[in-house]
Amino acid sequence: MTDFSALGLSAQIVSRIGAEGYEKPTPIQEKAIPLVLEGRDVMGLAQTGTGKTAAFGLPIIDMLLQNGKKPDPKTVKTLILAPTRELVNQIAENLRIFARKTPLKVNIVVGGASINRQQHQLSSGTDILVATPGRLLDLLDRRALRLDAVRFLVLDEADQMLDLGFIHDLKKIAALVPDQRQTMLFSATMPKSIADLSRSFLSNPERVEVSPPGKTADKIDQAVHFVAGKAEKVELLRQELTSHPEGRAIVFLRTKHGAEKLMKHLDSRGFATASIHGNKSQGQRERALKAFKDGSINVLVATDVAARGIDVPGVTHVYNYDLPEVADAYVHRIGRTARAGNDGKAIAFCTPEESGLLRDIQRLTGIDIAVASGEPHAHADRPARGRGGRGRGNPSGKPARRARPSGNNGGQRHAGDARDGAHRNGPAKSRPRRQRNRQNDRRQSA
Ligand code: AMP
Repeated sequence: MTDFSALGLSAQIVSRIGAEGYEKPTPIQEKAIPLVLEGRDVMGLAQTGTGKTAAFGLPIIDMLLQNGKKPDPKTVKTLILAPTRELVNQIAENLRIFARKTPLKVNIVVGGASINRQQHQLSSGTDILVATPGRLLDLLDRRALRLDAVRFLVLDEADQMLDLGFIHDLKKIAALVPDQRQTMLFSATMPKSIADLSRSFLSNPERVEVSPPGKTADKIDQAVHFVAGKAEKVELLRQELTSHPEGRAIVFLRTKHGAEKLMKHLDSRGFATASIHGNKSQGQRERALKAFKDGSINVLVATDVAARGIDVPGVTHVYNYDLPEVADAYVHRIGRTARAGNDGKAIAFCTPEESGLLRDIQRLTGIDIAVASGEPHAHADRPARGRGGRGRGNPSGKPARRARPSGNNGGQRHAGDARDGAHRNGPAKSRPRRQRNRQNDRRQSA
């Protein structure tokens, strides 16, 4: 396998990351780094946890160091946009490690923190700014910074930015960045909306793919419990958590109210737990994440928006307590486990109302999820909620891949048995209105 120096990175960077224990580049790094160093625009398709941050961060830092010039006051040389505060923090944390012992200044711009402080930090100029789109626009309105010196633009987790409705913000921001720039767009999934975004933001991009879009991490052992109703889920979760006392689990729910209620219930039953969702302040979220990382709690109850991009080593279980309304989110959720070469389990709970969502997930991932308990709900007489139409089981016509069987059922049965096919998620504007409305609700409820 290649090492980092063979990719064209400077000796300084190679030795810096070597000190952090990065010995061999990951596949996305091996493919993307030489292209970025050549000055190409890159459209990167990679699963979560594949090393995307270093894939764009290392060559950018290298090129900024070669250039050597300090940024002028209020200007920014590199702009990295990401969908959530947590992801912004995580990217910046990684970049600061890569840029340690260099003069490069990495700043953060996110909502939920003091805008005056951020304005002050931007005043002397920034080499790398990592930002969520909304707060960045607020600061641009205040004339706290200018984007006319941006050389590198990175859109990370672009599919989630679109799901969260950031498209207009992204367009406004891109209009302020010079055309003469290098752009990198990373996404775990490749709906048509991302292809459109790539066409309008990138110039003759090189596509770099480390696994087919929508495929879930290979090392994740997936299973589903079919339950009759919501009430059964609580009991099942308690049993699951009790049977894996050494585990470190993230439990995903659809709404912040649901997440808070479940967290309180688990807490009252003696589980070491915290919640992370849109009703929590930045400080509360950071404390919850820290407690989860340092092991003082081992169950984190979360909504999608807040949990995006969380990189906690050693997450053993991801519970889809509620199935996500958008199938892509399933891929992101379960990508919180099996990171950096570890194994992980993804366990879903599915009520009859959610069987259409499960079907969407199986179609997107091409995987028949093993049944851990219960009987697949019959839904042959009814199309998936909000999807209209029905096709045959799999758009590719190929048999669905089977997930590795869950330990407790031997994987004899599979949840796809009753699949009658709903459409794979298309771009937002071509989806039925009910589905779009649900997505809007999701933004507000998470
Ligand atoms: P990312 O996909 O950028 O969130 O990275 C996922 C995790 O893998 C992070 O904890 C990184 O620090 C780690 N990582 C990324 N690249 C490498 C590498 N080449 N060698 C070892 N660890 C890495």
